[in-house]
Amino acid sequence: MYLYQHQFVPKEEVAISPDDRGYYFGDGIYEVFRVYNGELFEAEGHYRRLEKSAADVRICLPYSIKELHEKLIELIQLNHLQEGTVYIQVTRGSALRSHPFPSQPEPVLMAFTTEMQRPIHKMDQGITAVTADDIRWLRCDLKTLNLLPNVMAKQDALDRGADDVIWHRNGTITECSASNFMLIKNGELWTHPANNLILHGITRDVVLKLARQLQLEVHETPFLLDELKLAEEAFITGTTVEITPVISIDNVPIAQGLPGPITRQLQQAFRKHIGLA
Ligand code: PLP
Repeated sequence: MYLYQHQFVPKEEVAISPDDRGYYFGDGIYEVFRVYNGELFEAEGHYRRLEKSAADVRICLPYSIKELHEKLIELIQLNHLQEGTVYIQVTRGSALRSHPFPSQPEPVLMAFTTEMQRPIHKMDQGITAVTADDIRWLRCDLKTLNLLPNVMAKQDALDRGADDVIWHRNGTITECSASNFMLIKNGELWTHPANNLILHGITRDVVLKLARQLQLEVHETPFLLDELKLAEEAFITGTTVEITPVISIDNVPIAQGLPGPITRQLQQAFRKHIGLA
């Protein structure tokens, strides 16, 4: 079942208008939540980010967070979801194609669930990445539907024989196409600060908290493309990828081309955090 406007309906009954501004302009926002064991993971962080995205693009959410939470719980139960994700998007609604906001916008909300297991193999073996120019706009902190740069970059990475892209803006590493990027140098963790140039990942927050608990020195400080060469370990973080090691960048192996010990420690702490041994 889908949550569409205020009802739970089968997918076939989700009747989004061709005039929906999400379709014309990407004029909307979204969130992806992880569900472990039938429960929303880090829900408050996702709601806070959804509210922030909505406020900054001036879309009025059709529900309070409390109401939305109740709806999402119901959706999870209706779909008997144990392991997977909840996707929710809210667009500014439909109107004849014209850039200004409609005078009386009626936002359209749609949510669905997807069954998905944890990506055990990739978390174990690691992935490869290539670097590319981050050509996105200057509000990457907002989770909006405008994902064409992300889509293009991911496909370019695949076409170059890698699993994902690591973006840099004028030489400063930002993040990846659907995850945040972290590296270990001199035994310390480095990641881009949570400003307008990256999405403030919910997993990023969890991992930084776990890293500090493990007494790791954490630097939320910009670092350069050149410093990738000095990385002892590298990994990405995200709702669906959790903590996935990066074992080579631009065809150069990180360390021995194997996931490193600090990455393993963080993965273990993350497993514990989500209630696995
Ligand atoms: N950065 C980008 C560009 C993303 O699209 C995502 C997730 O979709 C992330 C980072 C990771 O965020 P989160 O940990 O909240 O999933």
